[in-house]
Amino acid sequence: MEDVIVIGGGVVGCLTLRFLASYRLKVRLIEKQYDLASGATMANSAIVHAGYDPEPGSEKARFNVEGNRLYPALSRELDFLYQPTPSLVAAFGEEQEETLRKLLERGRENGVEGLSIRRGAELSGIEPLLSDRVTSALYAPTAGITEPWGVAIAACENAMDNGALLNLGEEVTGLSRLPDGILVVTDRGEYKARAVVNAAGVWSDKIHDMLLPHAFTIKPRLGQYYLLDRRAGDMVKNTLFACPTKEGKGVLLSPSVHGKLLIGPDAKEVPDRELTPTDAEGLRFVREAAARFLRVPLPMNLTIRTYAGIRPTPDTGDFIVGRSDVPGFYQAAGIESPGLASAPAIARELAQEIARDLGAEKRDDFDPFRRKQIRLNRMSEEEKRDLISRDSRYAVIVCKCEKVSEAEIVDAIHRNAGARSVKGVKKRVGAGFGRCQAGFCQPVVVSILSRELGIPKDQVLYDGPGSEILKGKVK
Ligand SMILES: Cc1cc2nc3c(=O)[nH]c(=O)nc-3n(C[C@H](O)[C@H](O)[C@H](O)COP(=O)(O)OP(=O)(O)OC[C@H]3O[C@@H](n4cnc5c(N)ncnc54)[C@H](O)[C@@H]3O)c2cc1C
Repeated sequence: MEDVIVIGGGVVGCLTLRFLASYRLKVRLIEKQYDLASGATMANSAIVHAGYDPEPGSEKARFNVEGNRLYPALSRELDFLYQPTPSLVAAFGEEQEETLRKLLERGRENGVEGLSIRRGAELSGIEPLLSDRVTSALYAPTAGITEPWGVAIAACENAMDNGALLNLGEEVTGLSRLPDGILVVTDRGEYKARAVVNAAGVWSDKIHDMLLPHAFTIKPRLGQYYLLDRRAGDMVKNTLFACPTKEGKGVLLSPSVHGKLLIGPDAKEVPDRELTPTDAEGLRFVREAAARFLRVPLPMNLTIRTYAGIRPTPDTGDFIVGRSDVPGFYQAAGIESPGLASAPAIARELAQEIARDLGAEKRDDFDPFRRKQIRLNRMSEEEKRDLISRDSRYAVIVCKCEKVSEAEIVDAIHRNAGARSVKGVKKRVGAGFGRCQAGFCQPVVVSILSRELGIPKDQVLYDGPGSEILKGKVK
């Protein structure tokens, strides 16, 4: 019998596992994909929103503001990439200025600190290339940017270092009530647990319906992006938003924690919950909407990738978090934006609630710190020389665009929740994330995975089952 099973290895599930691991509880996470962070957590805007956007009194507002406050300390404990980066909501004219005033009031009611409306010369000081057509902007100094999949992976790794268990590539297909808990049925077996957390993203309504009468529906909404090379990365200093509408926060322009420029997303309801295609119409909309922000043209010729993600939008309009009518069954469902910003607060509160209900105490031996990840491309020349003198594999640069060494890849494979695929390596160390998009480093990464996992090269996967890259020997 497990104490707690978490369904879903996105940022919400992984952080919940991590906070649960700080109690005297036997915890396990079950994720149906081959790797963690394969749903909404993999493709989003990566903004740790300040919290002025959600309606006061909503779960979104509460968790967003709390989650935002937890990020700086959590990024130090778990050693994921996080960068304080203020956000600006730009108003183009009088009508939108009214929206800014409402956002300012709403933000203050939600408890967001430091909000102000800036205009004129003050604005160009904050954002030098901002278009003259921007008449004023809401400035939120507490916003940040992060690496969403890195947060999830770091949290799961730290949970596992503290004894949590992880099952990847295993799908939960049924849930039923037991006198003392819940039976979790998967495509590989059965588990009994005293408590279960539904953190299944776009599938969270289906997981809910396995135990309870239908109460909400997830309406998947696609959002498409451009990612521009680091040569465009310093065009903006802040995350630039348009005024929000009924459809959401609209297209943004943001620096990324990897020094690139992110442009997007659009918002379109789609029938499929997992397919993430991009299309010319959506990308044109993104380009045109983003072009308004700056006084110079966007260098779209520096695009290195377009991609899309799916928002797990619930028809209730708010997050569904906490105890349900079935004892032992807890929800973290319908976590659309600002779900990334909110995730630490959702996870911490759920873990506290579950621990209280199960009568579990805090552990004295819980180590909140994840073993530091060496990031060669963020080190000084002196630090690099020192490292290389101790391990020459740090001198073997595999990904020339992002300057990732062989030693970093090997480490990423052998950690808890380690990389098992080419995309897994990319998520953990950024090899293949640069300008050539793995054109040069992929064969080397395949060789390293083959060697370190002890499998033939033609069994190395790009992402999940069926994504083998090599067919066999030609010569
Ligand atoms: C376009 C876009 C932009 C966004 N921008 C932002 C932003 O800037 N800031 C912000 O705060 N938020 C943003 N979000 C929202 C944020 O990405 C999500 O709220 C967050 O990633 C949700 O995490 P999750 O863990 O709930 O879901 P997911 O990451 O989707 O994880 C759910 C996991 O459950 C697994 N699963 C599902 N069913 C089963 C099953 N039966 N058995 C086992 N596993 C299962 C899935 O495979 C998946 O890995 C954005 C989202 C999108 C799509």
